[in-house]
Formats: sequence, structure tokens, C-alpha cells
Amino acid sequence: MAAAGRAAVPAADTSVSVTDATRARAAKVLAALRSAYPDARCELDHWSTPFELAVAAILSAQCTDERVNSLTPELFRKYRTPADWAAAPREEIENDIRPTGFFRNKARSIQKLARVVVEQFEGRLPADFDTLVELPGIGRKTANLLVATAFGGQGIIVDTHCSRVSRRLGFTRHEDPEKIETDLRETVPRSDWTVFSHGMVIHGRRCCRARKPDCAHCPVAALCPSAGRV
Ligand code: SF4
Repeated sequence: MAAAGRAAVPAADTSVSVTDATRARAAKVLAALRSAYPDARCELDHWSTPFELAVAAILSAQCTDERVNSLTPELFRKYRTPADWAAAPREEIENDIRPTGFFRNKARSIQKLARVVVEQFEGRLPADFDTLVELPGIGRKTANLLVATAFGGQGIIVDTHCSRVSRRLGFTRHEDPEKIETDLRETVPRSDWTVFSHGMVIHGRRCCRARKPDCAHCPVAALCPSAGRV
């Protein structure tokens, strides 16, 4: 996987009050998740540049990582640079990414992003969070993913799994991803943001599922106020 450049991290919002007890519990949760899922990582594969990870992330909206991973080897062979994506006929891109769903919107987002990257950033995705989040097709989740995964920085990646598990574990009461991100930034030391995010996502996929979480076999059940109550 690529690691290019130093990434700036988003400034912390201090509007949320988190107790020392919650921070201490979060540290224990993280230790347990590290032990349970030593392989936790971003599960989008086959990218070799930050821009390719951004494309994969756009494709993963409302789609499984597995399906995206089944397409990206061929896609990244065909479209080798942001300039290739920028110059391709929109209909051709739509056709190539059709299996991921919402292919018209996704093709438009990818092509807009590619054109900005070519025209304003000499064909290289910027590493800075505040710049990334202003780019077409890049929301906070993807900007954090890029900072955390492609640029070797720290990011809180709030997807549907991280949101659900964070609420069940009592680290947030919010539904809004940006507010959840703010709560988690207050709860977890910055140096652990990335590993904590990957741990929460994989735990949500494998154990703390939306329906029927497996509390009986959960590695953090002793630390969870929702254990056996979902
Ligand atoms: S105890 Fe249950 S609700 Fe709590 S994190 Fe584990 S699986 Fe999720």
C-alpha cells in the first residue's frame, strides 16, 4: 500500500465533554480490539496511489468492499492516472463501474475529482485533510480514510459500522457522522485514531452486527453498556 507525504489532521472540536473514565474504557476497548483483530485494516484493495484509493472509496458507497475489490484491478489497469479518468467518455466510465450501483453519480464524482486533481494539483491528490474534504466526491469519511490509510496519518473513519458500534459502546449518542467523529476524537488519543477506526469497523462487520450482535462472543462485552441488551 502506498504512503505518500505527511498528512495534516483535522483540528479537534472541543465542544464535547468526555470523562476520564470514558477515555480509560476506550483504551481498554482498543486493546481488546487490537488483540481480537490484529489484521484490522482498510479492506479496499488493489490501489497503488492515494487517488486510486479515493476512487475505490467513492465506488464503495452503498456497495460492498468485496464487489469494489472485484472491479478495481481491471479499472486501475484501464485508467492508470487521474488524467485517464478525466479524459474518458463519461458513458464509458459509467459502464465500467455499473456493478457498484449508483454508477451515474459515482462516474460524475470520480470524473470531477480527476479533473480538479489534474488541473489544480498536478495530478496528485493533496495529503491535507482540509484540502481533501473540499474536493468533489470527498466527504469527511473518505478524507479521513485517505489521511489514515494512504498518507500514513491519523483519521477517525466514521462509516455505518463505526457509528453503530460507537453508540452501543456508549462513546457517542449521536447519529450524525460528523458529531460522532468529534466525540471519538475527544475520546481516543490522536495517535490511535486510525487503529481505533479500523478496529471498530471490523468489529461491526464480524461481531457487533446491525442485527443480532454476537454479544456472547464479543471481545469487548465486559466493557460494553449494551451487552445483551440490543
Ligand atoms: S457486547 Fe454486544 S452490543 Fe456491545 S460491542 Fe459487543 S456485540 Fe456490540
